Parts: sequence; C-alpha cells; structure tokens
Amino acid sequence: MATIFSKIINKEIPADIVYEDDRCLAFKDISPQAPTHILIIPKKAIERVALAQTEDEGLLGHLLLTAAQIAKKAGISETGFRLVINNGKNGGEAVPHLHVHLLGGRALTWPPG
Ligand code: AMP
Repeated sequence: MATIFSKIINKEIPADIVYEDDRCLAFKDISPQAPTHILIIPKKAIERVALAQTEDEGLLGHLLLTAAQIAKKAGISETGFRLVINNGKNGGEAVPHLHVHLLGGRALTWPPG
C-alpha cells in the first residue's frame, strides 16, 4: 500500500531526514512528542510488524540497531530513550508502513496511555 511514508522514501514529499541507507530511512516526526522524536522506517513496504515475515528478520534487527545508533548520535543514549512500534487500531497505528518511533530527551512516563 502506498502511504505518505513511501512518498518520503521516494522523495516525492519532503522530510527532515537524519539517516539513510539501502534498507532504511530515518526522519524527524512532524508532530514530536519529545525533544527527540525520530521515525525509522524500512524502505520495503511492510505494513506493520504483525505482517513481517521470517525473511524480514535481518531487516527488523537493522531497524533496531539503526535506532540505537541514531540515539547515540542525538546524544540521548546515556540519558535513555524509548523505541515504540504501534501495531493496528488498538496500538495507535496511523500510518500503515512499519515504523519505529525513537523518543528521548526527557523522562518518559510509564505506562503509556
Ligand atoms: P503511528 O501513530 O505509530 O502510525 O505514527 C505515525 C507518526 O507519523 C506520527 O507520530 C505522525 O506525527 C508521523 N507523521 C505523519 N506524517 C508525517 C510526515 N509527513 N513527516 C513526518 N512524520 C509524519
């Protein structure tokens, strides 16, 4: 399914891109919920983590390792951060293209709403 995120991958609409490689793209969330709020997305159009396949195992790991690297670069690795993947309606998923939220720069509360 073509989403706003595929348009960002294809550079059809702008985004504040902080990292890119052959498998993933990371850009600042347009509506930040924390001082650092970055989305890490696969270039492959996987709708949500529940639809990821065994063959995507390496790609899923790459998204997490990339998120950790970006957190380090953003200077929030030591203070801490949170990675979130919303899946489906009850999970709060709005864009049906898998994305990892990287949130940090402030103390985050738990449990989430
Ligand atoms: P989710 O609710 O997990 O599906 O998250 C979707 C996220 O995408 C939200 O945090 C939005 O603020 C963000 N978002 C939507 N459109 C854009 C855009 N054009 N550029 C950057 N972030 C976006």
